[in-house]
Amino acid sequence: MIPQTYIQELIARTNIEELIGSYTQLKRAGRTYKGLCPFHSERTPSFVVYPDNQSFYCFGCGAGGDAITFVKKINNLDYVESVKFLASRAGMKLPEEDDAQGRLRSRVNALNRDAARFYFERMNSEKGVQARKYWRGRGLSDATIRRFGLGYAPDSFRETFVHLKSKGYTEEELLASGIVKKSEKGNLYDVFRNRVMIPIFDVRGNVIAFGGRNLGDEKPKYINSPETLVYKKSHTIFALNLAKKSASKRYILCEGYLDVISLHQAGFDTAVAACGTALTAEQVRMLSDYAEEVVLCYDSDEAGQKATSRAMELFESSTVKVTVLTLPNEKDPDEFIKRRGAAAFEQLLEGAGNTLEYKMAKFREKYDLRQPDGQVNYLKDCIELLALAATPTEQDVYAGRLSKEFGVEKRNILAQLENVSRINGRRRQRQIQRDLLKEGAAASIRLPVGISGEQALGVAMAQQQLVAALLKQPELLAQVKGKVAPDDFLQPELKEAFALILQREQDELPFDLPTLSGELSEASMAQLSKILAQNYEMTFAQEDIQLYLDRIQAGQTTSKAAAEMQPDQLAEYFERIKKRKQTIELSEQE
Ligand SMILES: [Zn+2]
Repeated sequence: MIPQTYIQELIARTNIEELIGSYTQLKRAGRTYKGLCPFHSERTPSFVVYPDNQSFYCFGCGAGGDAITFVKKINNLDYVESVKFLASRAGMKLPEEDDAQGRLRSRVNALNRDAARFYFERMNSEKGVQARKYWRGRGLSDATIRRFGLGYAPDSFRETFVHLKSKGYTEEELLASGIVKKSEKGNLYDVFRNRVMIPIFDVRGNVIAFGGRNLGDEKPKYINSPETLVYKKSHTIFALNLAKKSASKRYILCEGYLDVISLHQAGFDTAVAACGTALTAEQVRMLSDYAEEVVLCYDSDEAGQKATSRAMELFESSTVKVTVLTLPNEKDPDEFIKRRGAAAFEQLLEGAGNTLEYKMAKFREKYDLRQPDGQVNYLKDCIELLALAATPTEQDVYAGRLSKEFGVEKRNILAQLENVSRINGRRRQRQIQRDLLKEGAAASIRLPVGISGEQALGVAMAQQQLVAALLKQPELLAQVKGKVAPDDFLQPELKEAFALILQREQDELPFDLPTLSGELSEASMAQLSKILAQNYEMTFAQEDIQLYLDRIQAGQTTSKAAAEMQPDQLAEYFERIKKRKQTIELSEQE
C-alpha cells in the first residue's frame, strides 16, 4: 500500500489538464477543458477535464476517473505502476515499495530480463550452433534476432537455474517467474531445455514470458511460460511494444509469433499476434488504443478461418476498422513472404477485402449458385448485409456487381435494399423512442436484473445524487450516516464507493475522487466521474440530501416493507415527499 499522504501530494503536484493535454489536444471551456476522447474515436469533442475535482469524463464512451485512472488506461499500467509514472513526471521520489506483491513483481521482471540475456548469450556460444542454424533456416537476419531478443535455452536441467541463482534470485522469485519448476523430490529444474526461445514483452518493453520451440525430439513442440503475476495471456499482445512505435496505424494481426517476426523483417512493423489461442475482448481493447485499422491475417486452414470470424465479431463493437486478408495458396504469412516476397504481400495488403466482401464470400459457400433458389437466397443474404452494414456508395458498388453477376437489374437490387433499410430504420426509430421515454439521465442508469420500473429508477437517481454530493461536499456525510447502508445501493459501482467512503470516514481519511482510486474498481471510478461530471455546477444543500434520503427510503418502503406499513402511514409518507418536492419546484421557479 502506498501511503495516502503520498497520493495526496502526488495529486496536488499533478496538473491533470497538462497531463491529459499531452495525449489529446484540450481547449479551455470556462472552468473545464474539452477535447477529442483518447479512448474512442470521435470527430466532435465529448471528453471533458475538470481541474476543480481533478477528474475527467467522456460523455461519448463513458471513460472517466482521476489522473491515476487516466495513466492506467492510456498506458495500460496497474495502479502502483501508474503512481510511479506520475511520480517521476512530477519529480517526486518514488513511493517506498513496501507492498510485497509489487516487490516480487519487479524482481520477476528483472529476472526475466536476465533470463532473456542469458538465452541470447547461450545462442551465441558454441553450444548454440543448432539454434543459430534454426533461426537462419527460418530466414531471420542477425538484426531481426537481436530486435526480438531471440535466444536458446541450453540442453540442461540446471544451467539456467544455476545462472539465475548466481545473479542473486531467490527460490520464491525463480518459481514465480515460471522459468523454473519444482520436482516431486523438491529440486528446482529448468522448464525450457534445448529450445529456441522467443521472449514475450509487455507494451512497455518488459520481458514477461517466453515461448520455446523444441530443437530435439522432446514433446511438446512448443511450450510457453505459464501465467504468472506479470504475465496474463489474455492481456498480452506479442510485438505490440514494437508496433506502437510505428508511424502506421494499420496493424496486421497474425496467428503465430514467427509470422510476426518474419513480417517485421520484411518491413511490416505493425504485425502483432494475440498470445494464447483465441483473441480476447481485452486484447481488442488494447489494440484499439493504438490501431485505427486491423488487418486480420490468420492461417488459411479451418481453424484460422474460425478465428477470423470470431475476431470480426469482437472488433464489431470497437472503433477499429477491420479488414480481412486472404492468403491465396500459402498456409500463413511467414510462408507467403518467403515464397513471394514483401512486395507481393504489400499488394495483398492493399487489396485486403473488407468485411463485407469476406462475409459475402462466406454466403457464397453456403449456397449452390448453379441452382435458381441458391441464387435467390444468396442475393437475399447479401441485400440484408448491405442494408445493415454498407455505406450508400458501397451499396451502389455491390448492387452493380451483383446485377452483372446474376443478370438482375441493378435498380431492382437497389429498390430491395431500400425496402430492407426502411424496415430496419423503423425498428431503430422505435428503439430511440423507447429510450427517450425513459428520459434523460435515467436512461443511462443500468439497474441490476430483477429490479425495474420507474420506482427503482427514481431510487437509483437519488443514490447517484447522494454520492455526488458526498464527493463534492464531504461534510454532508454527517447527515447521511446511519440513514442509508451500502447494501441499499442498487448499482454495484455505487455500493462499492459508498462502502469505501464510510470506511474512510471511520479511519479519518479523505475520500475525494483521487484518493479513492487506489481501492475502487475501474467501473466504479468511471461511474463516479460520470456523476461528478453531471453535477459539475451543482452545489448541494441539506434539503437536497433529505430529499434523496426520502426518495431512497420510499423506494425501499414499497419494495421491501410495504406490507408491514399501514395504508395511512404509507399515504402520509408519500404526501410528505410530494410536499417537499413542490416546495423545491416552487423555489426553482422563483
Ligand atoms: Zn470517449
